[in-house]
Amino acid sequence: MRPLSEAAERLLYTEIPCLDHGFVQPIDYMGNDDEIAQAARTSYGPIPVDKRSDTRTLLRILMRHRHTSPFEMCEVKFRCKMPIFVARQWIRHRTANVNEMSLRYSEAQDEFYTPVLEHVSMQSKSNKQGREETPVNPEVYGEVLDLLKRSQNADFEGYERIYKSLGISRELARTILPVSLYTQWVWKIDLHNLMHFLALRLDPHAQYEIRVFAEAMASFVKAWVPLAWEAFVDYRIEAVTLSRGELAILRAALLSHSDSTSAFVDQAIALAPNLLSSREIGEMRDKLKKLGI
Ligand SMILES: Cc1cc2nc3c(=O)[nH]c(=O)nc-3n(C[C@H](O)[C@H](O)[C@H](O)COP(=O)(O)OP(=O)(O)OC[C@H]3O[C@@H](n4cnc5c(N)ncnc54)[C@H](O)[C@@H]3O)c2cc1C
Repeated sequence: MRPLSEAAERLLYTEIPCLDHGFVQPIDYMGNDDEIAQAARTSYGPIPVDKRSDTRTLLRILMRHRHTSPFEMCEVKFRCKMPIFVARQWIRHRTANVNEMSLRYSEAQDEFYTPVLEHVSMQSKSNKQGREETPVNPEVYGEVLDLLKRSQNADFEGYERIYKSLGISRELARTILPVSLYTQWVWKIDLHNLMHFLALRLDPHAQYEIRVFAEAMASFVKAWVPLAWEAFVDYRIEAVTLSRGELAILRAALLSHSDSTSAFVDQAIALAPNLLSSREIGEMRDKLKKLGI
């Protein structure tokens, strides 16, 4: 029998609702945590069983050191339904395989995205790409919703008139439809590239409407490959990269606190003995040494 993940098996074909009409539905997968470890061990040739590190430790080392190819041995396929403006952001991730429904072949459905009040807010003053956190008041929301719905209804009526009443081709009639219209696709990707996608699209800088789909996929990945997911959260999602300038400031701040930064580091490590393995503590000391701390 092929390698299975019991949790993934239970979730297959379940639609995870996203936004008002969308969903993410895992429809197939290949591999599991053990398979990632197995692929990594292939690099070293046959290793006696008693010399093999356990799967969790191995996966954490792979993630930490960006030894990425074993994660590419796992794949997953989702059926997804999302507004076209979300699909336009999503399609930029070139390492997936995609098959999208076509409005040349099929008739458009009257399904458009309209945001709920909680997610309608003013243009952000600090982030040109984003919105403020606080939602607008209900009257403003009512006006926005009314404008959106009126325009979506008019566009859809126009589509039906061009295609159904005038008999013009679907491929031309669709050009009247807005990017809030829902589309669907089947999306297949390997675990390494999916985690890259998730790191970018779970981030608070990503637009809320695509983040919802990333969160839905993340909930599947967490169940499917829990050890890889844990390592991904620890070493990618919750980790921070500091620039040279930022490190210089940190170094200066540490030195201003203590004559002996190594004593400071010893104290810090002693305060969190369960956070790092002894191997990681060694790696952390090496990094700090390289930085002159
Ligand atoms: C918050 C946010 C804001 C964004 N804003 C904009 C925007 O304003 N305008 C805009 O156009 N895009 C925008 N993007 C899209 C962004 O620039 C990337 O196109 C998108 O995130 C896909 O990333 P990627 O290329 O790393 O992913 P993938 O296409 O999945 O590629 C994964 C990795 O494979 C490698 N790779 C894949 N294809 C190639 C290739 N042809 N050549 C070399 N290496 C390759 C790269 O290492 C890449 O990182 C935004 C993305 C985010 C997350």
